[in-house]
Amino acid sequence: MADSGLKNSLKKQMLKMTLIPLTLMTVAIVAVSASIVRKSITDHIQKELINDADLVSLIFDKFYNGDFHIERDETKGELVIYKGDQLLNGENTLMSMLSKRRNIDVSIFYEDVRVLTTLVDSEGNSAMGTKAAAVVKNEVYDTGESKFYDNVMVYDRKSFAYYMPVFGENGEKLGMIAVCRSAEDVQSSVFKYVLPIIGICLIVAIFFGIIMVCFNKKLAERIHKMDRYMNKLANGDFDYEMPRELMAEDDEIKSLANDGKKMARALKNLVEFDALTELNNRRSADKKLEEIRVRIVEMGMKYCVCIADIDFFKKVNDTYGHEMGDEVLRMVAAKLKKGMVGKGFAARWGGEEFLLIFDNRELDIAKRELSIIMDDIRTIYVPDTDRQITMSFGLTAMIPGESSDEALSRADANLYEAKEGGRNQIVCK
Ligand code: GH3
Ligand code: MG
Ligand code: MG
Repeated sequence: MADSGLKNSLKKQMLKMTLIPLTLMTVAIVAVSASIVRKSITDHIQKELINDADLVSLIFDKFYNGDFHIERDETKGELVIYKGDQLLNGENTLMSMLSKRRNIDVSIFYEDVRVLTTLVDSEGNSAMGTKAAAVVKNEVYDTGESKFYDNVMVYDRKSFAYYMPVFGENGEKLGMIAVCRSAEDVQSSVFKYVLPIIGICLIVAIFFGIIMVCFNKKLAERIHKMDRYMNKLANGDFDYEMPRELMAEDDEIKSLANDGKKMARALKNLVEFDALTELNNRRSADKKLEEIRVRIVEMGMKYCVCIADIDFFKKVNDTYGHEMGDEVLRMVAAKLKKGMVGKGFAARWGGEEFLLIFDNRELDIAKRELSIIMDDIRTIYVPDTDRQITMSFGLTAMIPGESSDEALSRADANLYEAKEGGRNQIVCK
């Protein structure tokens, strides 16, 4: 049915078909590019942190000769860490400088305890004396192998960290050097790189979305119009004009529209025309009478109606057979059709009766024209016989405001009078 309020109309389906894949594609592109960017930034940071850790180790070696070693300060009861003769515990300007320059935190561990660090908690207290996570102790200190972590929690801050074991002069394990960087920086970098990608994706998606929506809308509208055309056809409106947009593209819709037109013509023929005589049938005659009635009232036009009946037609059938009767009906219909050209309308009213409508004429003019038709009918003979065909006619003018039934019963009464009066004549009142 031609209803735009369909639950799942083509328009809605096409909109879904366009917007869902576009949205999924955009989300996928953004997710994949975000993970690629994150991975490459993480790799880059890993390299940087390894270099930073090497740099810390190198700087310590350069500035302070000798190896790391630990002693206990008996007066304070604390462990103190030395690099050669240099005491490292406490403020270390070299590490602070490195920390600021490289935007990293540096820690020196004795075993897994921070003895020297630039790390501070949220209140600014140094992390000196705090322990590395158990997993770091297991994986770095215990194994003696360096390791990079891309997601460690340092004081509730997600961080990247690189831990490098430190060995004494005899190769014994002393502790670790750790460099770490907050992941917040990285998140904002990922965001900085991914934001333009999101922007471009959105622009491209919106651009293609608009193109696809416009295209689909046009297509859906054409299909909707086709649906409306078919709906009109189903309701018997065979004269409903095929919308021009349906023929605009050389596609299946155009082909469907052409088939629809053919179907409308075929149905119109079936519904409005009589198959035997090819004249309009009674259904279309009734429609025409209704149109006329309105026109008489609204436009003051004059119409005359006539019921015409073949005389003694039963005898034709009885004498020459039904087939021959049909042939005579065809011949009569052809004469009536020809006779009414430019004058009005002829229809098969039923059996051997016909309805003639004279457009916009006074009764006397219609009568004159009708007598020419009557004369023409008289020229018909049952094929290959000398049996002449005649007709009787009941003619009347339609009166403004009266129903077509009233006019028709007057025409019928006139026809009856013509029959009674000897047939083969016109009675006109
Ligand atoms: P009248 O002059 O009084 O009109 O006499 P009539 O014989 O023409 O009228 P009647 O009503 O007695 O007979 C009409 C006949 O028309 C009867 C019917 O069999 C015949 N007829 C109706 N429709 C058709 C048709 O489609 N084909 C044929 N061959 N005959 C038809
Ligand atoms: Mg009859
Ligand atoms: Mg008859």
